[in-house]
Amino acid sequence: MSAMRARILLGLLALTTIAAQPARRNISLVVVGRTVITENAQHRILTPGAVAIDGNAIVDVDAPEAIASKYRANTTIDARSDIVLPGLINTHTHAPMVMYRGLADDLALMEWLNRYIFPAEAKTVSPEMVRIGTRLAALEMIESGTTTYTDMYYFEEEIAKATREAGLRGVLGETIIQFPVADAKTPQEGLARAEAFIKGFKDDSLITPAVAPHALYTNDKATLLACAELGRKYSVPVIIHLAETEDELKGALERFNLTPTAYLESIGFWGPRTIAAHGVWVNDEDISILKRRGVGVSHNPESNMKLASGTAPVTKYLAAGVPLGLGTDGAASNNDLDMFEAMRQASFLAKHATHDPTAVPAQTALDLSTIGGARALGMERTIGSLEAGKRADLITVSMSAARQTPLYDPVSHLVYVTRGDDVRNTIVDGKILMRDRQVKTLEAAKVIADADALAVKVRAAVGK
Ligand SMILES: [Zn+2]
Repeated sequence: MSAMRARILLGLLALTTIAAQPARRNISLVVVGRTVITENAQHRILTPGAVAIDGNAIVDVDAPEAIASKYRANTTIDARSDIVLPGLINTHTHAPMVMYRGLADDLALMEWLNRYIFPAEAKTVSPEMVRIGTRLAALEMIESGTTTYTDMYYFEEEIAKATREAGLRGVLGETIIQFPVADAKTPQEGLARAEAFIKGFKDDSLITPAVAPHALYTNDKATLLACAELGRKYSVPVIIHLAETEDELKGALERFNLTPTAYLESIGFWGPRTIAAHGVWVNDEDISILKRRGVGVSHNPESNMKLASGTAPVTKYLAAGVPLGLGTDGAASNNDLDMFEAMRQASFLAKHATHDPTAVPAQTALDLSTIGGARALGMERTIGSLEAGKRADLITVSMSAARQTPLYDPVSHLVYVTRGDDVRNTIVDGKILMRDRQVKTLEAAKVIADADALAVKVRAAVGK
């Protein structure tokens, strides 16, 4: 073979090699982790693993080499010492109530409400208070790995704007209550506000607007039904506190001779996109009603324990197949928004209450705060697990602390030793909200200074 022919052949070979290499697809972001916990139906875990994201969606989850061979990413987060998992879903809170954190503790529910929370709310709830409180809550949620939260409060449009600016996903319910409150003098006014709010945010990519009748005992039948109707009219969630305390149960039995759940069934309140918070005082028949109606239930173990409300029958809900998620409730009764703590307490409380250490194992607690929460909100097709086609809501959690060493089982560590401040990166809708503990969408120092300044007014309002 002549030297010339050899060169031509070599050149051809090189060309063939290039042609055989498939073109790598350009995408926006790759997150590489020591372990990727997908929370998909098979509970697939990759060690190591990588998540490929383009725009706001997950396009692939695979081994890091496989992802590198298929995609060229604009940005890569190298989290090789972290666990990567779906962002946590808080199915019940009142974000601006972070402003009442630690204002009064260790009191019976009615004394706590009547002496501190209601007076503080009457004098301090305003659009400004709600904005400042929501920013503070959003900062805490981003820092502790929550990517979606469900809210019910007043001036919900302000909460929605602050949530969108922070980059979080929210299912946000405008509260409807029978007595005059900061943003509505009557429930009719509240319903009109709720309808305007729903219309204003109906097509938002991050915000799911909702209507939130506060509870059975704070609304009459006509108001409850008007809320349910509004939810149906716009196909949006209806959020309610349900059977939180024994007093609520006793009240319903006295007034209607029915449990709260059965009464709401009897008036035709329940619909498929209803989210019921607490569900502590329910019997087997109530659980079957909730299952039949497809109601999502939010379990709030920390709030229930702190206010001594009782113990929700979590193992019964799970056995019945009721869509169940976890919530922190407002920070005034918790006193933080850390979903890792909620997971741990959900597991411990179930074991303690049933005298069964196998109740709510670590995997179940993790499911409740991810895919379970998504199901409870009716959003399991878009969030709750790391799978191609779903929205890119994910977090990475550092596993290098002394208390996380050694690491035998990542799921065990997430539930039994991790704290919110172990979260290193938070991504929602493909956007990096926190990178290496630096929150990008909020100015942390200003958020905290604004809240501290507002706290002076809150303190004055309750004479503390
Ligand atoms: Zn609540």
